[in-house]
Amino acid sequence: MAHSLLVMKFGGTNMQDAGAVRHSASLAARSIREGVRVVVVVSAMAGVTNQLLRLADAAEKGDIAAANDEIAALRTRHFAAAQDLGAAPDRETVREIRELHETLRQAVYGVYLLRELTARSRDLIVAFGERLSAPLMQVALEGQGVRAHHLSGGQAGIVTDSHFGNARPLPGSYERIHDRLGGLLGAGVTPVVAGFMGETESGAITTLGRGGTDFSATIIGKALGADEVWAWKDVDGVMSADPRVVREARNIEVLSYGEVMELAYFGAKVLHPLAVTPLRESGIPLRVKSAADPGFPGTLVQEESHNEPGHPVKAVTAIRGVSLINVSGAGALGVPEVVASLFSAIARENITLLMVSQSSSMSNVSLAVQGVDARRTLAALRGSVTGELQVEDKGGVAVLAIVGAGMRGQKGVAARLFGALAQHDINILMISQGSSELNISVAIEEPQVESATRAVHAAFALGERATAAD
Ligand code: ADP
Ligand code: ASP
Ligand code: MG
Repeated sequence: MAHSLLVMKFGGTNMQDAGAVRHSASLAARSIREGVRVVVVVSAMAGVTNQLLRLADAAEKGDIAAANDEIAALRTRHFAAAQDLGAAPDRETVREIRELHETLRQAVYGVYLLRELTARSRDLIVAFGERLSAPLMQVALEGQGVRAHHLSGGQAGIVTDSHFGNARPLPGSYERIHDRLGGLLGAGVTPVVAGFMGETESGAITTLGRGGTDFSATIIGKALGADEVWAWKDVDGVMSADPRVVREARNIEVLSYGEVMELAYFGAKVLHPLAVTPLRESGIPLRVKSAADPGFPGTLVQEESHNEPGHPVKAVTAIRGVSLINVSGAGALGVPEVVASLFSAIARENITLLMVSQSSSMSNVSLAVQGVDARRTLAALRGSVTGELQVEDKGGVAVLAIVGAGMRGQKGVAARLFGALAQHDINILMISQGSSELNISVAIEEPQVESATRAVHAAFALGERATAAD
C-alpha cells in the first residue's frame, strides 16, 4: 500500500555514530524519494542519556571536574559525528550544536553551585541528548539531498504537564503539532524532532520517561493522522523474549495494541509502555522494524490480535528490581474502608502497582512495586494505617509475565507456566492474572529470572512458528 505520511523513529543504536545516523537518514530518504512525507523523530546517541544522568549527579555531589570531563567527551562525540557527516565547521547546524553544549555546561554548573538537582533541572539536562542528535540527523538528511529542519519537542508542539521525569502530553499538543509540522511538510521540508522531550505551558523542558522517543513518535503520528508510525530498532521487531536473554527468541509478526502495552508494562524495553496509547485512540498502526534489515516486515502493531492456534502465549518478559510489600493484620483488612485507604495512599504518591493480591481470609494484602518506589510505598502505607496492621517489604524480586490474547478462555495455560517453573525449581512468591486474560504474571526471586524466562519460553515453544496443522 502506498503511504502518504509516515512518522519514523530512530533509537539510540540507530543514532550511535555518524555511520548509523547516515544509514538511518538513508532509510527515511528512501521513502521521501518515493513521494512519502516523513517526520523523523530521533533518540540521543546510544549511551548519552545515561551519561547525562551521571554527570548531573556528579555535579550535584560537587564533582564538577568529573561532570566537565563527561561534557567534553560528549562534545567531542557530537562534533566528530557532525564532521564525519560532512558538516563544515562554520555551518549553522554546527554553531547550534556548539551553543547547545554551552547551555548544557551552564546548566550543569548551576547544579554544581546549588548542589541541588531537582526533577526539573534533571529534565533540562537529560533532554540535551535528543536536542543534540536532531541537528546531526538534519545534516545527514541534507547530505542525501533531503531538505530538513530540526526542532526540539516543545518547538514541534509537544506540550506536557509538569510531571518532570515522567510527563504526559496535554490534549492541546495535537493541534499545535499539526500546525507546526504540517507547515514544514507542506513546504516540502522534512521535520526532524528531538524525541523524549516536551515543554510545559510555561516553557520548562520535560521528559516523557525512559524510552520516551517511541512515545514522541506516536504522539506526532496521531497529531498528523499519519498512515503508520515506524520505529526502527536494532532488533527484528518485538520478539517472543528479550533476545539478549533468550537466544531462540523470534520475531512476532502481529500484536495488538493491548498485547504490546502489557509487554512494555512488564519490562520489554523495546517500546515505551504508553507508546501505543495515542495510536490506539486513532487506529494508526505501528511497525517495529530492523534498521539492519529494512526489507524484513518486523512487527505490525494494530487493533486486532492474530492468534495462532495452539500458541496462546506470544511472549515472555520480566521486570527486575521489584519489591513485594505485605500488609497484614487479623481482621482489620476485612473492613473495606481500610483497604480503600491503602490504595488511595498509594495513588496519592503516584506509585505504579505491578501486582496486587488479597488473601481470602482478608488477613493480608500483597503488592508488587518497582524497587525504587518501595520506600515511598512503605511510608505512604505506614502513614495511612492504624496500629493493628503491619507493613513489611521484601526486595530482590522479579515479576515475570506471559502475554498473549490467545490465552483468553484457554484452559491449562497457567498450569503450563507453573509446571515449567516448578521443573526448574523456581519458587513462585505471588501470582496474578488480569481479568483481560492478556497476561499471567508471577513474582519470583530475582537471581532466577533469566533461567525462568528461558524455561517458560521453551515450555510454550515460543521460538517455534505455529504450523497450519497445529
Ligand atoms: P531504541 O533505542 O531503538 O528504542 P531500546 O534499547 O530502547 O532501543 O530497545 C531495544 C532493545 O529492547 C533490544 O535491544 C532488546 O534487547 C530489548 N528487548 C527487551 N525485550 C524485547 C522484546 N520482547 N523484543 C525485542 N527487544 C526486546
Ligand atoms: N534517550 C532516552 C532514553 O534513553 C529516550 C529514548 O531513547 O527513547 O531513555
Ligand atoms: Mg527505547
